[in-house]
Amino acid sequence: MPLAERYDAALCDLDGVLHLVDDPVPHAAEAVAAARAAGQRFAFVTNNASRAPQVVAERLTGLGIPAAVDDVVTSGQAAARTLAARLPAGATVLVVGSQALADEVSGAGLRPVRTVAEAGEAGPDAVVQGLAPATSWTDLSEATVALHRGALWVVGNTDLTLPTSRGQLPGNGAFVEVLRRVTGREPLVAGKPDPALHRESVERVEAARPLVVGDRLDTDVLGAVRGGADSLLVLTGVTDVAGLLAAPAGSRPTYVGRDLRALLHPQPEVKVEGETAHCGASTATAAAGVLRGDPGRDDGLRALAALAWRLADAGRPARWAG
Ligand SMILES: [Mg+2]
Repeated sequence: MPLAERYDAALCDLDGVLHLVDDPVPHAAEAVAAARAAGQRFAFVTNNASRAPQVVAERLTGLGIPAAVDDVVTSGQAAARTLAARLPAGATVLVVGSQALADEVSGAGLRPVRTVAEAGEAGPDAVVQGLAPATSWTDLSEATVALHRGALWVVGNTDLTLPTSRGQLPGNGAFVEVLRRVTGREPLVAGKPDPALHRESVERVEAARPLVVGDRLDTDVLGAVRGGADSLLVLTGVTDVAGLLAAPAGSRPTYVGRDLRALLHPQPEVKVEGETAHCGASTATAAAGVLRGDPGRDDGLRALAALAWRLADAGRPARWAG
């Protein structure tokens, strides 16, 4: 049975799955439309806190993927909820991030500030951090001072990179890493793979049998594992074939596909025998520690991944020569 029929809801990541910043991912819009026609509901779940849900919904709609504001779940919303659960109403929060993130902070009954001084004598109660292109040394310095003074630290995600049509650019995690190195502090992470964001997404679409769809092992797939859901990894974003084959136990997707059209097809079981794996019409082999197969087909990808993981777990890892 196609995944679009087997799972009543897709909890679908955005960057690297539906778009690369402003460019559409090929086949994504047609695949979402076909999956919806087959009865699957969609929640659009992003670790990117740089845009308001309304803006995300409009942008998706503009890319040919109709989305309502309530269909969108962002790590900015999750970060604001995490802060509100730990701080009294009206507490001050130093925002390193977009105006959309500051608006989420206000919406949660807290007071966003941009400098330590703005928070008054006691300084900010918390620092919240999300991706924003305008983030500067000055912003990171204000956050450093607040963190040295003991402020709570919440981040939307620790994604080191952001997939774009120009390749991998610095993500929020790169800026988080600066503060971590400088202050020696560790942040609370509100976005994927935190199970809270997964639960919220499940509730939004009232999913009985959700399928997490994403392009990252360390956020989308790990978040699915922690949330007890199956996952589909697509190779249109951060993860390439070598990364898929090297996925550590605990961060391995249930299904893989080259792109989102994998939702529309059945996923035949992979049979691994010794150093050979069969999936549908494809075969993968390992000889002299080198994997061979056809990553240009979804079946081939699945055969390769199953074989690579089986051998790695058996202590006989095989190399992907590309
Ligand atoms: Mg992504």
